[in-house]
Amino acid sequence: MASLWFSDALLTDGWQQRVRITIGEQGQIIAIDRDVGPQICDSRFGVALPGMANLHSHAFQRGMAGLTETRRTANEATPADSFWSWRDIMYRFVDRLNPDTMAAIAAMAYVEMLETGFTRVGEFHYLHHDQSGAAYADRAAMAAAIAQAATTSGIALTLLPVFYACSDFGGAEPTTAQRRFTNTIDEYVDLHHASRAAIAHCPDAVIGVAPHSLRAVNTEQLHDLIRFAGQSPLHIHIAEQQREVEACLAWSGARPVEWLLANTPVAENYCLVHATHISAKELTSIITAGAIVGLCPITEANLGDGLFPASTFISSGGRFGIGSDSNVRIDAMEELRWLEYGQRLWHQSRNTMASDAASTGATLFSKSRQGGFAALGASDAGLSVGSPADFFSLCPNHPNLSACTEDAWLDALIFSGGREVIDGVWRRGRQIVCGGRHVARDKVEAGYRAAMLELMAG
Ligand SMILES: [Zn+2]
Repeated sequence: MASLWFSDALLTDGWQQRVRITIGEQGQIIAIDRDVGPQICDSRFGVALPGMANLHSHAFQRGMAGLTETRRTANEATPADSFWSWRDIMYRFVDRLNPDTMAAIAAMAYVEMLETGFTRVGEFHYLHHDQSGAAYADRAAMAAAIAQAATTSGIALTLLPVFYACSDFGGAEPTTAQRRFTNTIDEYVDLHHASRAAIAHCPDAVIGVAPHSLRAVNTEQLHDLIRFAGQSPLHIHIAEQQREVEACLAWSGARPVEWLLANTPVAENYCLVHATHISAKELTSIITAGAIVGLCPITEANLGDGLFPASTFISSGGRFGIGSDSNVRIDAMEELRWLEYGQRLWHQSRNTMASDAASTGATLFSKSRQGGFAALGASDAGLSVGSPADFFSLCPNHPNLSACTEDAWLDALIFSGGREVIDGVWRRGRQIVCGGRHVARDKVEAGYRAAMLELMAG
């Protein structure tokens, strides 16, 4: 049992001062005392905030960060750079990975997520098979590598094993480059069971179901997956690219979100990742269904996807969470900043995501947490008795915070601060980030560098 004392804390019922949090043997919060002084053995910190949820990650893509930013020479055979040319590079990177390099890269990504305030990650995991496209002897070897990275870093894991079978709408055959992703439904069910076993030792682990996209599954497979998922989290890439919308219209006469809503029982357990290109009617229908939209502003900007109408969606009662997706840059607060800035540039306005007189930072922080944890099948109890002690602290003496109080801390954290004002992160009551640095960073960095040297040598 340990007790920590914070000058201020954002509890489930709002800001409180002089807060003492007591943590039990299992890493859960067993007591919260308000307006009390520290006791002699208490460790003392600044402002405590509940951990954030990262609802969409492809951890291995951390290894490609910064390596796809040289413009290609465009000609008829190779059109200008786009999401699709980036995907070709990503497929070539995928060809080189094995469970060891996967574990090393994912551990680096997860360490960085924790350092920025994410305490749970949703890993949208589609790289299942060996280089030849055959299943590993342990079918879930790659899922086990993800679990190993979660254990090394300490992050809470929601694993979303991805089903992938087709290369385009209408059941087109998968390409050679997709051979490491594909399964039949029976193979997927076996993989899912093996993956569940692979993550069983990870504290607070959750497993969901992820049809990759409407491009990658046929209608019958999608319905099988929805039945298999039941009430578990069900994540799908839905409308990231305009070309995807046009292909869906050509195939079905409907836009992707429109088709999904008309043909499947979209409900609160659905997470529509990159619902970027939607009509006003689709926007209203997503809200009515209670589905959560997964927004990944840094990646969507990096890949040139487009802008989701976030301010309209949120002011109409829509649920959303944020994800680091390609992990080209890992920073929870920067995701929120980009989300708001995209809307400011679009609407030529300021403070677009907050309602009247509300703090933009507090709105982004609380709503993205609510949607994010719900999408990952984890209760969002925040800082409350009985919940896992997953939280982070702000450096009390950082100049960016010196004129702040309460919600203004969140405004400063998101718009002027970022990861440099986060000094401590706790998962299950254990402090794993101290002074802004993960306790295993040196070892994880060394493993990451060795993995990248091996991959790039190939
Ligand atoms: Zn994705």
